[in-house]
Amino acid sequence: MSFFERFKKKAKDAPKTTAKAAKASAPQKAACATKTPESVAAAQLKMADLGDLLPGAPPNGKINLAIYWAAACGGCDVSLLDVNERILTIGDMANIVMWPIAADGKEHDIAEMEDGSITVSIISGAVRNSENEHMVRLLRKKSVIVVSYGACACFGGSPALANLVPGGKDEILDYVYRKTPATANFQADYHSDSPVIPQFEYSAPEGVLTLPVLYDTVKTLDQVIDVDYYVPGCPPLQESISYMLKAVADFAYNGVALPPKGTNIGVVTRTLCEQCPRRKENRRITKIVEPHQIDVDPELCLMDQGILCLGPATVGGCNARCTRAGQPCRGCYGPTVAVQEQGASALTAIASMFPVLDDDATMEEETIADIMSTVKDPLGYFYAYTMGKSLIKRSVVEKGGK
Ligand code: SF4
Ligand code: SF4
Ligand code: SF4
Repeated sequence: MSFFERFKKKAKDAPKTTAKAAKASAPQKAACATKTPESVAAAQLKMADLGDLLPGAPPNGKINLAIYWAAACGGCDVSLLDVNERILTIGDMANIVMWPIAADGKEHDIAEMEDGSITVSIISGAVRNSENEHMVRLLRKKSVIVVSYGACACFGGSPALANLVPGGKDEILDYVYRKTPATANFQADYHSDSPVIPQFEYSAPEGVLTLPVLYDTVKTLDQVIDVDYYVPGCPPLQESISYMLKAVADFAYNGVALPPKGTNIGVVTRTLCEQCPRRKENRRITKIVEPHQIDVDPELCLMDQGILCLGPATVGGCNARCTRAGQPCRGCYGPTVAVQEQGASALTAIASMFPVLDDDATMEEETIADIMSTVKDPLGYFYAYTMGKSLIKRSVVEKGGK
């Protein structure tokens, strides 16, 4: 049964939603309705004041800093350059003992260091193979502080969408190496008898060669190791990076206590909607559209215009970068503290905008299911960044069936 067949069945079987229940299940919508210019300003996160360039080495000598990417795209590494000219003086504060994208530290260099001798490890990316897991465990052992940096490390990000492939790594490898147009042609031309798929271990005449073992389920960083701080975003914005750098510099130069363990750096306590300057009218959705399909009103809430926006289910911090530019929020800062399940929370907020309330029942549930079926890749949309942390976790193949 397809996702939408299940969705339709559930809608049919479910008890009718009362107006009271629908309102109670949509607290985010109510929060949007009370948005004022004052609350937008109050919820905004400013850049941390970094003062002058770093003043040479800290009094107790340079700290050791490691920057590592697990299953990442490299965007998080590049975002670290957003500290502008200060990047030139990071070397005054810290020995960069590892940064695969920029420096030449090797795994054995880290393995030989004393436990706890790295002050801070900043780790981006999800954990999706044995090498990722080995490296993050090693860095955890050697580090005083571990920062989970970016949406992939914090919530699984786009790599964790691989968890939706029911057959796990075997199905992914089969598709990537045998079924895409380019690889299907390659296999047909050169290996028609026996298609070549990467093996995790191969006995060559020179010895046994190994590759990292791909995992069936992609994990968030804190599902593998203990994490001290989180910096969400895809990638994190300059404001967040300035807060992180200020905390590290204050600690290294002035002995200022670090924020409490578990702090989400660069986020505010409210939803993204409260940072968004768009006017919310709580109009009822009767059609779902993409921004390129309509003439987008520059001042009206995108949801009011039928564009799916995850703002009600996303924690504020980015100052609504995307919605200010006319694009819906896809949720890269993750859920609010109050709502851990971001995708379901977004679905609830959207469902509350359909005209199905008892006192306003102008739309049949069948019609809603038809409208929702126009959302291409709904799980990919609502869990674009947070599948690794969701309650769904992954698709599975039931025993003896599909
Ligand atoms: S959070 Fe975004 S920028 Fe960072 S590694 Fe993941 S996909 Fe790339
Ligand atoms: S456009 Fe998105 S973030 Fe802005 S008010 Fe509407 S739902 Fe919230
Ligand atoms: S608006 Fe949403 S998707 Fe865009 S940067 Fe902010 S949290 Fe991320």
